[in-house]
Amino acid sequence: MRLSKYFLPVLKENPSDAQIVSHRLMLRAGMIRQAQSGIYSWLPMGFKVLRKLENIVHDEQVRAGHNPMLMPTMQSADLWKESGRYEDYGKEMLRVTDRHDRDMLFGPTNEELITDIFRSNVKSYKDLPLTLYQIQWKFRDEVRPRFGVMRGREFLMKDGYNFDVDKPSAMHAYNRHLVSYLRTYERMGMKAIPMRADSGPIGGEDTHEFLVLAETGESEVFYDSKILDLHLGDREVDYDSWDQCAAIFDEWTTPYARTDETHDAELFAQVPAERQMTSRGIEVGQIFYFGTKYSESMNAKVSTPDDGDVPVHMGSHGIGVSRMIGAIIEASHDDKGIIWPEAVTPFGVGIVNLKQGDEEADAACEALYKSATALGLDPLYDDRNERAGGKFASMDLIGLPWRITVGPRGLKNGVVELTSRKTGESEELTPELAIEKLVKIYADV
Ligand code: ATP
Ligand code: MG
Repeated sequence: MRLSKYFLPVLKENPSDAQIVSHRLMLRAGMIRQAQSGIYSWLPMGFKVLRKLENIVHDEQVRAGHNPMLMPTMQSADLWKESGRYEDYGKEMLRVTDRHDRDMLFGPTNEELITDIFRSNVKSYKDLPLTLYQIQWKFRDEVRPRFGVMRGREFLMKDGYNFDVDKPSAMHAYNRHLVSYLRTYERMGMKAIPMRADSGPIGGEDTHEFLVLAETGESEVFYDSKILDLHLGDREVDYDSWDQCAAIFDEWTTPYARTDETHDAELFAQVPAERQMTSRGIEVGQIFYFGTKYSESMNAKVSTPDDGDVPVHMGSHGIGVSRMIGAIIEASHDDKGIIWPEAVTPFGVGIVNLKQGDEEADAACEALYKSATALGLDPLYDDRNERAGGKFASMDLIGLPWRITVGPRGLKNGVVELTSRKTGESEELTPELAIEKLVKIYADV
């Protein structure tokens, strides 16, 4: 993409209403624009990152054997009356009536709708286990929308639902989700710690939240620092293996890690003092097992050979896809701007032309732009007629992990400069070697 043709409305000033750094940087980098309180338009660069996160989520869900689908945002109130949650959900649910005076709502979550789809189509234990999921916009009329996309009213969530014949099988689904979530966050370049949590209005017995540590997080968390050393890496995981998923579940849930809702001071005191950590965290996902709560109230049953018709055991699982962008920026920025992890960066490399209009510099940039594009590096070429200082400031603000700087002086010696956004270190290389190096770096992401 050429910056002269791209819609990237970068702000010079700090927006006064943004309290936390991710919100400020997303506004300043031209990623989002507020439409109303807690409701945002996703401008091209914000949208690009959102899509990248969605792709990673889809990839890892499909790898775990789950079925992608899409449900509507508008739901009929009837199903919610059936489960009993229409009254329970309270003011967070946006309720509307259509022209026929029928009660509708903008879905805050989808247990009812998916259970209805399930019960109309699945009748036998032979069709289980089954996990369906979607990535879809949700609406929750939050009391205090704030921190930009972190606590929006309209937000993008991956929500998934497992259907199993009995509790052991549903617990395998629970473990499988935990493993697939660990992988998902690692692929985004993030560390999200599973912590035992409280189930709240969704109800149920088992639940873990995934938290990204950050000072600006809304949750207070307590954990054994040992958990920070755990990595899934590129371990082969057979998602159908109950033992393998359970072993990974045990590995990650043995060290103490809890949110304030379930914190147990006595248990925590048993962790060696130097490893007892208290900090704040951003909830970027949650998994639940809630048994037959919805299947009983909504009559979702399957036939079994020994016990006749039984209500299915269910769980639901969510990832805050749009909130995740805020969490990534909270975890990865400096005073100049965002520092994208390579896995989710909107563009692979920025090309800065120090002397736009100089025949040689223009030609070198064009050549770099073409080869970087052809090799899948997805470059953003700053071809505007601006001073070098302004170009550098914009590049630092939008935070692409790599920058290639092209100027007449270097070109005299046949070199360009390759700079890491994270370390600030630069090296002079021929254009060919600079591209080659980047291709290698991105091949490992
Ligand atoms: P919270 O406690 O932060 O209000 P929740 O527990 O009500 O969230 P879930 O029902 O668990 O949310 O939804 C799954 C995920 O969706 C959460 O882990 C979070 O990452 C994301 N999410 C929930 N509410 C919002 C929101 N208002 N804005 C952005 N993301 C959200
Ligand atoms: Mg939650």
